[in-house]
Amino acid sequence: DSKTMEKIVALCKSRGFVFPGSEIYGGLANSWDYGPLGVELKNNVKRAWWKKFVQENPYNVGLDSAILMNPEVWVASGHVATFNDPLIDCKACKMRHRADKLVEAYNAGQGIDNVNVEAMDGEALVAYIREKQIPCPGCGKSDFTDIRKFNLMFKTHQGVTEDTANEVYLRPETAQGIFVNFPAIARTTRRKLPFGVCQIGKSFRNEITPGNFIFRIREFEQMELEFFCKPDTDLEWFSYWRSYCHQWLKDLGVREENLRLRDHEKEELSFYSKATTDFEYKFPFGWGELWGVADRTNYDLRQHQEHSGQDLTYFDQEKNERYIPYVIEPSLGADRMTLAFLVEAYDEEIVDVEKNDSRVVMHFHPALAPFKAAVLPLSKKLGEKAQEIQRELSKYYMVDYDDTGSIGKRYRREDEIGTPYCITVDFQTVGDEKTPADHCVTVRDRDTMEQVRLPIDKLKAYLDEKLAY
Ligand code: ATP
Repeated sequence: DSKTMEKIVALCKSRGFVFPGSEIYGGLANSWDYGPLGVELKNNVKRAWWKKFVQENPYNVGLDSAILMNPEVWVASGHVATFNDPLIDCKACKMRHRADKLVEAYNAGQGIDNVNVEAMDGEALVAYIREKQIPCPGCGKSDFTDIRKFNLMFKTHQGVTEDTANEVYLRPETAQGIFVNFPAIARTTRRKLPFGVCQIGKSFRNEITPGNFIFRIREFEQMELEFFCKPDTDLEWFSYWRSYCHQWLKDLGVREENLRLRDHEKEELSFYSKATTDFEYKFPFGWGELWGVADRTNYDLRQHQEHSGQDLTYFDQEKNERYIPYVIEPSLGADRMTLAFLVEAYDEEIVDVEKNDSRVVMHFHPALAPFKAAVLPLSKKLGEKAQEIQRELSKYYMVDYDDTGSIGKRYRREDEIGTPYCITVDFQTVGDEKTPADHCVTVRDRDTMEQVRLPIDKLKAYLDEKLAY
């Protein structure tokens, strides 16, 4: 519900996961900055993806291509012609609407289900709105301007003069950087089909209706794989990647009840796609697309071959023939995924009913947690030993250090940011004149709150086992 979302946004701000962008200047609409904890979380999301999709997968390699590309790329990809939202303004109250959404909402309200809105172009939409006298949700009047096509791509200029010849776009997806590098990657890696290319990077879309925190933003990161395979093997590979992605989510703790794999019906498929599945996540504001997995046939490479005039075929030595490979594309947003992990992890727990004691805890998978452990000396006097432990563990992962406030408060602060293990250094650890040092620390588990006493020299091995991913 909306309360949960508000709480998560508030926690993100107060603990340094995500801040509103340019805040001291009054902000910039729908821009967000990842704070010290947020950057760790998002980096871990990207790392977990890279590990399973590049490092551990036998088929894939990585790429980091440029954000600015030759503008012809976007003509070939279809983004110049079709990456548009049809906008209209209400003449009476000046409210701006997406014409297709207006028609959809009207039809839903009237129970009209035999009109395919996706197939209507701008003129058809306006004609329909006028014929049905669809009212403006703002003022109730039905008097609209003509349609204005609004391209979602951000435009800028390369070089010193701001004329159209120097126009370039900020990429609206990372995929095209992979397609244009297909021949170079095939050649340099000497890979045979099938193989895939993974890329993580910023994409930009001038969204008309951004919102829901970091769910829909104008500057976001994508984690995309373009998997090239032989024609007629595409549906097999589609199903391989569909389950691979599903498994990745499950392994990182996404619960089945919050996940829905929606296969597109024939009518819903893009004209070039043979199969598409949207992975949807149950956000507090409703189900939203997380991951799009699509069989794109050989459409993209065919388009680039045509527009660039270069040969993008692959020579199959076994079959002794040339063909344009087919492509499976799983495309995931890093910010949207990070939001889903935040939602999934968030929990308010009652610790002790009688004492009316509760805690907020983020149950992040250890691979995603910003800090893997926190070192907490029971007294500032134990700082030397505690810092030594923190310094040693910090060689391997992020380790927090906190020596202020009661130990109970410190546990709660670590719970709230999802630190899986708290390591307490006490007087027994170092000993004094009367008692010899036991060289042990107490390790507390975030989820069970159970504690174990461990020799310091066993700590690293203990944590390694618990944190393995
Ligand atoms: P939507 O229908 O939500 O606009 P889309 O179908 O346009 O998404 P794709 O073009 O398939 O999305 O992009 C692939 C993935 O990139 C999406 O599943 C999503 O995770 C992410 N993504 C797309 N647009 C945005 C955005 N504006 N903000 C954050 N993430 C985005």
